[in-house]
Amino acid sequence: MKIKVLGTAAAEGVPAMFCNCENCTLARELKGKNFRARTQNLIDGDLLVDFNEDTYLNGQRFGIDLSAVKHILITHAHEDHLSCYGFDCINAAVNRTVEKVNLLGGEYILEELIRVREKSTKGLLESGKLNFIPLEKFKTTVVGEYSITPMQANHAGGKAFVYIIEKAGKSMLYCLDTGKLPEEDFEFMKTLKKPFDFVLIDCTYGRVPADKYGGHLSLYDGANQIKLMKETGAVTDKTRVMVTHFAHWHIPSHQAMEEMASEFNFEVAYDGAEIEF
Ligand SMILES: [Zn+2]
Ligand SMILES: [Zn+2]
Ligand SMILES: [Zn+2]
Repeated sequence: MKIKVLGTAAAEGVPAMFCNCENCTLARELKGKNFRARTQNLIDGDLLVDFNEDTYLNGQRFGIDLSAVKHILITHAHEDHLSCYGFDCINAAVNRTVEKVNLLGGEYILEELIRVREKSTKGLLESGKLNFIPLEKFKTTVVGEYSITPMQANHAGGKAFVYIIEKAGKSMLYCLDTGKLPEEDFEFMKTLKKPFDFVLIDCTYGRVPADKYGGHLSLYDGANQIKLMKETGAVTDKTRVMVTHFAHWHIPSHQAMEEMASEFNFEVAYDGAEIEF
C-alpha cells in the first residue's frame, strides 16, 4: 500500500487560525513541514480517509485527481474529519473518472450528513453518485480491493471508529482520533492472523502526556498503546509506526518532534509525506 499524507493537524490546523501562540508563531516562521492542514490521507490514489474542509486545498497542492477516488472512509463526524458540504461538489462535476463514490463509516456518519444537508445528501444517494456503506464494529467489509474492519475508538462519545485496512496481503491500523483504546479492541487484536505492517496513530497532545485529557493521545500515550498492541501480537518490531493529528498547543517544530519520536522508533507525519509498505 502507498499512503499519501495530505494533512496532519487536529481541528485548528498548525499554525492555528486566530492563534499566535509560541508554537503557531514558530510554525509560521519555519514553514515547510511545520505547516499542517487538518488530518487526511489518501491510500493508493483511490481510498480517501477522512474528508474535511482542507480536501479542496489538498487536491490542488498535491495534484490529486479527486474524481478518481473510489472510496471515502470516515472515522467520525467531527468537522476536521467530515465536511458535510464538500459532497455537494460531486453534483457540480461535469466529468469524473469514477461515477460512483462509496462512502464508508458508522451509521452516525449518514445521520450527520442528513442532519446538516438533508436535501443534497438524499439527492446524491438517490442518483447513485454516492453509495453509503454502513460499517459495524469488528465486522470486515470488502470494498474493491480493500478489507476494512472497524474497532471502537475512545472518542466523540463512542461515535468513532479506528480502522484495520487490508489490501493485497498488507495491513495497517488507522488509529485516530482516539484516546486509550478499550479492552475489547485489544481482545480483537489477539484474533488477528498477521501483525500490522503500519500503524498511523493519534498524537494530538504531542509532547504532553494526555492523562488529564480524554479522547486523544500524546507521543507517550501512543507509545504505551503500541506496547499493549505488541502484547497482543498485532504489532511487532517490524511494524512501522507513525504519529499524526497534532494540535498547536503541544506540537513543537517538526524537527524537535522527530527527535522526541525517534526515542520510540516512531516516524512523524508531515503534509505531503509518502509511505509505502
Ligand atoms: Zn480530529
Ligand atoms: Zn497556537
Ligand atoms: Zn475528533
